[in-house]
Amino acid sequence: MLTASNHSTRQMRFAAFVAVVLAYCVTTQAQIGDEVLQPPGSSPEQTPTPTNATLFLNVRVFDGKSATLTPPSSVLVRGNIIERVSTSPIDANSIENITVINGQNRVLMPGLIDAHWHAFMAATPMALMTADPSYLHLLAARQAEATLMRGFTTVRDMGGPVFGLKRAIDEGAMIGPRIYPSGAFISQTSGHGDFRFSFEVPRTLGGPLSHSEVVGVAAIADSPDEVRLRAREQLRSGASQIKLMGGGGVASPYNPIESTQFTEPEIRAAVEAAENWGTYVTVHAYIPRAIQQAVAAGVKCIEHGHLIDEPTAKLLADKGIWWSLQPFMNDQDASPLVNSVSQQKALQVFAGTDNAYKLARKYNIKTAFGSDILFDAKLTNRQGAQLAKLVRWYTPAEALQMATGNNGQLLALSGFINPYPGKLGVIEPGALADLLLVNGNPLEDIKLIEDPARNFVVIMKDGRIYKNLLPHNVG
Ligand SMILES: [Zn+2]
Repeated sequence: MLTASNHSTRQMRFAAFVAVVLAYCVTTQAQIGDEVLQPPGSSPEQTPTPTNATLFLNVRVFDGKSATLTPPSSVLVRGNIIERVSTSPIDANSIENITVINGQNRVLMPGLIDAHWHAFMAATPMALMTADPSYLHLLAARQAEATLMRGFTTVRDMGGPVFGLKRAIDEGAMIGPRIYPSGAFISQTSGHGDFRFSFEVPRTLGGPLSHSEVVGVAAIADSPDEVRLRAREQLRSGASQIKLMGGGGVASPYNPIESTQFTEPEIRAAVEAAENWGTYVTVHAYIPRAIQQAVAAGVKCIEHGHLIDEPTAKLLADKGIWWSLQPFMNDQDASPLVNSVSQQKALQVFAGTDNAYKLARKYNIKTAFGSDILFDAKLTNRQGAQLAKLVRWYTPAEALQMATGNNGQLLALSGFINPYPGKLGVIEPGALADLLLVNGNPLEDIKLIEDPARNFVVIMKDGRIYKNLLPHNVG
């Protein structure tokens, strides 16, 4: 029986517990200073220059599709569109307010695309995730600028509150990449997206939202109806695709990596909501059973999948499912993990990476590149280096095709709600003008992309120049 007095004792104990947790959060936050938040990434050398047109002269083009460079060429960008690519001279005298850049035989390539990014969480330490959300959004904006200055002109955001950031960037109020947002990732209770404190459960159906749900990082749902509601909420907010947690993850505390999450009807509810909106669902899953369930429910893409087996890889190939795979390895670029359980899970994933890429190649699966960098500003500076690691399994040309032309095809699955209609990741007439001018040939030396500050001498997004280290004429 619960008497008044032991009830209040319980309340006091609970209050004391909350106080301890909060004190922990506050001290952790107090210890996080500029040292951890640095470096901010390089700032743009110039504010974006609005011109009517840009003419690149004397460039060799990697077009995002082929394995070789073109002979010396000229590329004309008009507005935000690539208008012409030509080995014969392009006469631009008739075009007013045109910027002419002599590439001096450098390589012009499409802007890079990261298919698994978290703009809200990439650079901010996990311990800060309980801080004032407005502060976290400002940090995310700073990181968005650094992301663009690393040559990543587009990211497919795989979860987090980025609708405001995307809008501010698209409107020109902030500098950053194009963002294909998922909004909150949808997770079952105890799933990979359930980061609630232990004292926040049980929650009754329809009960109050947890902090990560209020902020827009996660949406917890436990029936087809709840999944449908959460998916529709993300679409209403502007999600270009829906992200579900379909199996165990590394950083999350309450789920074994071997677990399968949601049921087929729950995932199918999200698939129906997405397909009615012209788009698709992608599912976080490492193990065969979770991948197979997601595929049976109609998803178009799998995130991670490092612990896949051969029959499941064949299933992805047969069904034409995209595989958004990351070169996770036990090296300097491994995400910081707070506890030994997560560290153990990470080792399991690292052990699967080599096999996963080999199967992706063997079955010619449509494979996307994504970095999935989380909670570490220093690691974000390794975004290009993560891509360069793919030469363990691919030629430099194949790795670069994956992060440009192929990733562009994956983005296009967002159909009629594509926030940036037009071709991305390729250099061809009619494509959107996201371009990098590279000091050297990345098809011969992919490591050039590891040092974007030095080697990307021009960065253009949507026809605007955000960085230009070369002398240029504006006529
Ligand atoms: Zn992720």
